[in-house]
Amino acid sequence: MPVLFCHSCCRNTQHKEVLRKRAEDDFSMKTKLQKFSELVNQLFSGVHYHKMDPVCFCRDCNNQNPEKNSPSTH
Ligand SMILES: [Zn+2]
Repeated sequence: MPVLFCHSCCRNTQHKEVLRKRAEDDFSMKTKLQKFSELVNQLFSGVHYHKMDPVCFCRDCNNQNPEKNSPSTH
């Protein structure tokens, strides 16, 4: 469990780390065909098609910590 500085608590607190799908995946108006092609892509590439953002939430105040919300290295 990562200990990060919470700007809401103004101190270092324990955080729970959650992998969250990007909003664009949730709110997109994809057709079934597009979803199927994504699935095929996923099967062939062997990697996760959906980009997952790790987000950390303060255990004390449940505030989302922006520290680990930076773009991933890949
Ligand atoms: Zn906090």
